[in-house]
Amino acid sequence: MRWIDLRSDTVTEPTPEMREAMANAEVGDDVYGEDPTVNHLQELSAKMLGKEAALFVPSGTMGNLAAILAHCARGDEIIIGDRSHTYLYEAGGVSALGGIHTFVVENRDDGTVPPDEIEAAIRADNDHFPITRLICIENTQNRCGGSVLSIDYTQEVGRVAKEHGLCMHIDGARIFNAAIALGVSPAELVAPADSVTFCLSKSLCAPVGSIICGDEAFIQKAHRVRKMLGGGMRQAGVLAAAGVVALESMVDRLREDHFRACRLAETLVELPGISLDYETPATNMIFLRLDAEAPISGEELVRRFADKGIKISASRGGQMRLVMHYWVDEGALAQVTEAFKELFLHA
Ligand SMILES: *Cc1c(COP(=O)(O)O)cnc(C)c1O
Repeated sequence: MRWIDLRSDTVTEPTPEMREAMANAEVGDDVYGEDPTVNHLQELSAKMLGKEAALFVPSGTMGNLAAILAHCARGDEIIIGDRSHTYLYEAGGVSALGGIHTFVVENRDDGTVPPDEIEAAIRADNDHFPITRLICIENTQNRCGGSVLSIDYTQEVGRVAKEHGLCMHIDGARIFNAAIALGVSPAELVAPADSVTFCLSKSLCAPVGSIICGDEAFIQKAHRVRKMLGGGMRQAGVLAAAGVVALESMVDRLREDHFRACRLAETLVELPGISLDYETPATNMIFLRLDAEAPISGEELVRRFADKGIKISASRGGQMRLVMHYWVDEGALAQVTEAFKELFLHA
């Protein structure tokens, strides 16, 4: 049985085209900078993001950590949203490994932190305080419904950073989803930032890997940090080959995931017992809650769906997330839609 897996877009397995590219990849020792496929992936990434240089890393978590460590020294402080992935889900790496302090500001439901609140968080020059060094934002904002930060907002935060002599980092794990949703180029969207990370291994379907982009000097620093963190890989071209296919063939199709998320959401809002945190999904995620009239509990829903070959995550604080991706095609969407109707209309 082929599962329909809605738990995340990280579950996406490589496509046949990727497996073929991996099998045939030209490789070399990437720690020596001699892997032609990694070099090609890095050049392509830098070009698409409009930055001077790029670095291939094993995961988004290492990408954010290496970027932040390249920007900051011990005792420095970053300003970061309370619903950001780096703050919530990266094992506190910036503090544990970097000795970096976090000034946490509140994400609004649309994924933003108002620029005046970011500005108010910047420390005065005073021996009592840590030194503010970096502003971090996340686009798309995962815990805020996969919401999209606009170019205007990003420019506004960039202006605050510049005015105060700070750097700005974008956790763009799903930056291509954001760019597609806005109808802008990724380069334009991240132009105000000094650095950006994005994941190849989510909706872009590659099996492994993320990319950090920035200027030459910054990427050189990040390269040293990657080595320190144990992320220097050798014949990584077998992985990078899938990343190249991802960037060349998987970006434009993200709109299909967004379209399917909207169509499933349209069905779900009509069902008794289900409420959506965001009635129109901004990108590829649906966040739903079961209310008092729901015919079944969240746990029951997970079990009944599993019986039908559909995997969904257990509820987190009453909230459940469904994620669209390459392997959820029209047929799968129809099955999921039918399964929801059966459980909520005919229970
Ligand atoms: C998935 C994700 C990451 C981390 O990526 P991993 O490859 O899982 O380490 C970082 N930020 C956001 C917003 C993510 O969704």
